Amino acid sequence: MRILVHKEKCQGHARCWSMAPDIFDLDDEGYIVAGDIDVTPDDEKKAWRGAKSCPERALEIEK
Ligand code: SF4
Repeated sequence: MRILVHKEKCQGHARCWSMAPDIFDLDDEGYIVAGDIDVTPDDEKKAWRGAKSCPERALEIEK
């Protein structure tokens, strides 16, 4: 699974990070780091939860 990061939509709520800090990297200002994220099968559940928690829909799940 891959997560497409739409950084321009990120408002820095850090909800993704609070769900899965080892998957979602934030910069010093609390915004998601640019670049799509490859997720291993073991991490899919929490990555999915983190992506869905984003109120700005900045994290798109690609299957
Ligand atoms: S939850 Fe969404 S808006 Fe908040 S930091 Fe993560 S990507 Fe950005």
